[in-house]
Amino acid sequence: MAVEIALAAVLGAVVGSFLNVVIHRVPLGESIVSPGSHCPHCDAPVATYDNIPVLSWLLLRGRCRNCGGPISPRYPLVELLTAVAFAAIVAVRGFDDDLLLELPFAACLIALAGIDLDHKLLPNRIVYPMAVWGVVATAIAETGDLPEHLIAGAAAFLLLLAAVLAYPAGMGMGDVKLAGAMGLYLGLSIAPALLAAFLSGTVVGVAIIAREGAAARKKAVPFGVFLAFGGLVGVLAGPELIDLYRDHLLS
Ligand SMILES: [Zn+2]
Repeated sequence: MAVEIALAAVLGAVVGSFLNVVIHRVPLGESIVSPGSHCPHCDAPVATYDNIPVLSWLLLRGRCRNCGGPISPRYPLVELLTAVAFAAIVAVRGFDDDLLLELPFAACLIALAGIDLDHKLLPNRIVYPMAVWGVVATAIAETGDLPEHLIAGAAAFLLLLAAVLAYPAGMGMGDVKLAGAMGLYLGLSIAPALLAAFLSGTVVGVAIIAREGAAARKKAVPFGVFLAFGGLVGVLAGPELIDLYRDHLLS
């Protein structure tokens, strides 16, 4: 099992490197395929040997080899986060067909959280294909659970839609669509996922108001980031949280 977990971590680091490109370029409407990575300061292309996830940034001490300009620690952090997420998913959920759902799900959530942080935007260009793959991968890997996943997607979509209509300042249609897509991947685990999203959003919101006053709330962390966090909680611990609820709160 240690080999599979290590493999997942390496795959995650490589995917994370690609997610950096997605986070940077998709909101600008740029191609995610070409041109290759280049320095944001001097435009010099990044050589393959300087593009090794996490390690290159550490070896170059966060600077461009050509011009010495600073390279944001965001890049290695996204790579590290994706590596840890992939490794944790394989460690907790096992090495099986369900990875078809779980790994693309985690990758989409990390990309969307990064874009939402930067632009307060959850692009349809990511959310729509994510939703389609949620249905296709469920049909392949968890055929019998397809109805559950479709219902979870519809329920999450409608719940967030009601929240947006009731309180338009808090969320947007991007959050509604993302919640729907998450339900397609998570099935019943969408419930603990949304709970984790709302709880973490409330805790951070209250902390920001306490530190910086109510005005700061407006430019606070966008809700898509909390949805992404909730999604990762759902995929890593959803079934266990549901059991906990059944055993301790319903009995
Ligand atoms: Zn440079």
